[in-house]
Amino acid sequence: MTATEQNLQVRLAKRTVGLPEDDTWRIAENPIPTPGPGEMLVANRYLSIDPAMRGWINEGRSYVEPVAIDAVMRAGAVGEVIASNNDHFPIGTHVSGLFGVQQFALSDGKGVVPVDPNLAPLPYYLATLGMPGMTAYFGLLDVGEAKAGETVVVSAAAGAVGQVVGQVAKIQGCRVVGIAGGPEKCGWVRDELGFDACIDYRNEDVRAGLKEHCPDGIHVYFDNVGGDILDLALSKLALRARVVLCGAISQYNNMQAMRGPANYMSLLVNRARMEGFVVFDYAKRYGEAAREMGEWMAQGKLQTRIDEQQGVASFPETFRKLFRGENFGKLVIRV
Ligand code: NAP
Repeated sequence: MTATEQNLQVRLAKRTVGLPEDDTWRIAENPIPTPGPGEMLVANRYLSIDPAMRGWINEGRSYVEPVAIDAVMRAGAVGEVIASNNDHFPIGTHVSGLFGVQQFALSDGKGVVPVDPNLAPLPYYLATLGMPGMTAYFGLLDVGEAKAGETVVVSAAAGAVGQVVGQVAKIQGCRVVGIAGGPEKCGWVRDELGFDACIDYRNEDVRAGLKEHCPDGIHVYFDNVGGDILDLALSKLALRARVVLCGAISQYNNMQAMRGPANYMSLLVNRARMEGFVVFDYAKRYGEAAREMGEWMAQGKLQTRIDEQQGVASFPETFRKLFRGENFGKLVIRV
């Protein structure tokens, strides 16, 4: 950091419908702040780019407050403490927290956790060892109650959450079928991650694929996308199936009202359950999941694919990649 260096930030310029274009954002440069009593200055190293950020810029009630107009865009990040008046976080500590789409963040330490770059590369703390990994672990095992011998289907299978869901389901002894866009993503989850099958929804008939690869029906459908794919999965449920509502990315940029499932009577016929969840409700148990997944990683059973983009100013375009399926693995920006 030099005396003339500025803090490059992305701020929310306006609310929007549809895919957020460049004018949704304002790129700003401001002086790097100085920490006050109890505060620290974090130099962000990697920013987490998540579909949930689309919901955070909408007006109205959700599970978190909307980002205010002209505020720095909220984002998870990992960084390094470079100045500190906080005894819990001395200079040189690597930390994870909601530091925002900017190069430098002031923090009072609330909601911040230390991370160890010697145990895993920093971006992994935004992926398998971070929020998406926790989402996959608790969504699959706690909400979905996946058990050995069952068939698990996961959509957005080559993404941040999906790649972990499929691998953890394999570790549990499940049969795993992914759904993903394109032959490259499908080939990777099958050949590298060990999924039993993958349906390329952009080029294949999903209904026929589910019929072929789920001969006993679907016991757990882990839904990341909503829309047509959710409806098709509902039509193939096994008795007492669990549908885990994790996300509905196909609906986030809808210009009209969000589309719900039409096939919901399948829940009745199959005595099945469909349940939504928010990962933050599991915050007290993150340590448990991180320990177990850390062991699987050390044993080579759990891989993490990172999709790394460059620079804070790339945020508007990088963010749109999520909704076009242009990310492959967990999407991050290297600051
Ligand atoms: P991701 O899967 O890494 O990236 C999003 C992927 O969604 C894209 O790569 C694309 O993959 C797929 N996609 C985009 N538009 C689509 C469409 N119209 N139809 C079908 N697929 C589409 O993202 P992630 O971070 O892992 O998040 C996955 C889901 O989990 C999101 O819905 C997110 O909101 C949700 N989530 C929920 C929680 C929670 O607490 N409930 C926490 C974290 C994430 P393809 O190329 O395969 O289409």
